[in-house]
Amino acid sequence: MIIRSAIACEVCSQPHTTRIGLGQEASHTHRFPCRGCDEEIVLCLDSDSTTASAWLVPVENATQIEEVPGAPIVNLDAVESGWR
Ligand SMILES: [Zn+2]
Repeated sequence: MIIRSAIACEVCSQPHTTRIGLGQEASHTHRFPCRGCDEEIVLCLDSDSTTASAWLVPVENATQIEEVPGAPIVNLDAVESGWR
């Protein structure tokens, strides 16, 4: 399952579309450099297996926004927790 959501950098307001693969853990932390200013953005993906739902929680330098057409897409993997 891929969770798609949109976040903006709190430092430079750069929008990003994030696609995060849902893994086995209930909670994943993901970090990646902002595509606009290189500040580290930290997100947490929480999931509830009893309802098969998942949601994104902004942790650092991030604000959840409406998806912006043309925003850079950031793929985050549940296992590697890295930026690709
Ligand atoms: Zn930024």
